[in-house]
Amino acid sequence: MARKNKSSKRTLLIISLVIILLMAFIYNSKMFEREPPQVFADETIYWNLKKPLNVKMTDESGFKRVLIQLSDGENSITLFNEKYSTQNKELEFNITFPKKGFYSKKNQYMLSYEVVDHSFWNFFMGNKIIKESVIIVDKQDPIAYVVANSYKITKGGIGVVVFKAEDANMNEVYIQTNFGKKFKAVPFEKDGYYIALISWPREQKNLLNAEIVVTDLAGNIARERIRYYLQDKNYKSSKITLSDTFLNNSIASLARDIDDDKTQDMSAIEKFMFINDTLRKESVKTIGTVTDNMSYTRYFSLEPFYPLKNGAVVASYGDFRTYEYGKKKVSESYHLGLDLASTSGANITVSNRGKVVFAGDNGIYGKTVVIDHGFGIYSLYGHCSSLLVQEGDSVMVGQVIAKTGRTGFAFGDHLHFGIAIQGIEVRPEEWMDERWMRDNLFEVINNAKSLINGEK
Ligand SMILES: [Zn+2]
Repeated sequence: MARKNKSSKRTLLIISLVIILLMAFIYNSKMFEREPPQVFADETIYWNLKKPLNVKMTDESGFKRVLIQLSDGENSITLFNEKYSTQNKELEFNITFPKKGFYSKKNQYMLSYEVVDHSFWNFFMGNKIIKESVIIVDKQDPIAYVVANSYKITKGGIGVVVFKAEDANMNEVYIQTNFGKKFKAVPFEKDGYYIALISWPREQKNLLNAEIVVTDLAGNIARERIRYYLQDKNYKSSKITLSDTFLNNSIASLARDIDDDKTQDMSAIEKFMFINDTLRKESVKTIGTVTDNMSYTRYFSLEPFYPLKNGAVVASYGDFRTYEYGKKKVSESYHLGLDLASTSGANITVSNRGKVVFAGDNGIYGKTVVIDHGFGIYSLYGHCSSLLVQEGDSVMVGQVIAKTGRTGFAFGDHLHFGIAIQGIEVRPEEWMDERWMRDNLFEVINNAKSLINGEK
């Protein structure tokens, strides 16, 4: 009796063990996975009915059944009702609006997905998910039209545009140019109106083409071309022959100052090319990055810039320089600022309030200050001997921000003064000319204000 009891106890133990193992197997087996299918669809979908809606689904054990229905709140239609025997782990549906059997002209619908997988979980019933997307039908193109723009843009210079952009489900508003740059726009004066400053970069070989682009969440797009008179400009072009004396003295010592590690094994001409090509590209890119923004300022108001008292112009914006060594062209560059010189270590003053977004070393520009004046307008001060402001500082009109010097790629004490518009260095001369600013900026802006407020 005692013996039998012992053996039955053992049997029971073995059975329990088998059950535990079986349960563990089921629990860990892929066939019994407990994850419901995943349906990749947004909670709210804007649809212009032009392109099919793409819905993806995934599941570890594959799909058993998919039911997709569309409802307008009163009636509904089945778009997909499929049973699957394969163990496909991914499904993709391209849903088009039903042309037959569903006469509904509402602009809001509910798209529902009921999906069951192939898992043996839930007593072989599988895991089920029910999900819904609100569909907002929007077939209306956005509104985009120009209210006012500057009459002309000079190559290397800028133009302003004030425009209307409207849509019930607005997504993006920007200016697209034919050279790849997208200019940002900010709200202006009244709801639905925007302003942007755009430039025609000096290096562009083509004429400028710029259009306002307004997109909505359903993928509808409106484009409106801005009609500027494009004024070409003949910039100075010069050929500079590099002498060995210049390379071995000035360039060699400059290379040592800028990056001794990288340049010490280079030949004299390689050092020059490193500074004028590689380093210039990096430095211009840094300026492009720190000035590629358009912070919103409530009022557009600027005084002409006058950064250096009695500063004589020693080089203009836009000069194109090619460099020759041993009768061969070795390098080229565009001068993207205005060089002004007075006494060495002269005070550099800022003519408009703003915020310092860069204060430090920047390659060929040397010690540099960059100030954000709002509306995508930045002023830049290079080759300084010392900086009197820090990043993040607010500067006041007339404040001395730095002293002139010869840091970076400079061979005499001077100020390299620049203006950048959303990342592109433009002609500073325009921004130092009161009449140019009045005719090309303020009159256009005031005219736009009157039109928007119905005064004209
Ligand atoms: Zn310069």
